[in-house]
Amino acid sequence: MTIQFDKDTLKDVHVTNVVERLIDEEFPTVMKKFPDACCCSQCLSDIKALALNGLKPRYVSTDRGDLFERVHISDMMVKVEALRAMTEAVEKVSRNPRHALD
Ligand SMILES: [Zn+2]
Repeated sequence: MTIQFDKDTLKDVHVTNVVERLIDEEFPTVMKKFPDACCCSQCLSDIKALALNGLKPRYVSTDRGDLFERVHISDMMVKVEALRAMTEAVEKVSRNPRHALD
């Protein structure tokens, strides 16, 4: 059977950036190193966006979730780079938060 491409086709097409998942996972660890950093959703969104912009994305189709574990475990460089990008992003956002400091 051949499925025709129509307006609903992309509804069930899901891809995930494993680097983004890695960042979400490491977020608490990174923020613990910066006890004075603001953890409001605005700052955390800025930190995440900054970090992701500095990293090469790695997309996988999500029906193959095991790929995440493989990237996660085998490619330590991905993790090292993600942690570095997050650390830089926290420092940058902390110096220039997009809201007044109290
Ligand atoms: Zn904030």
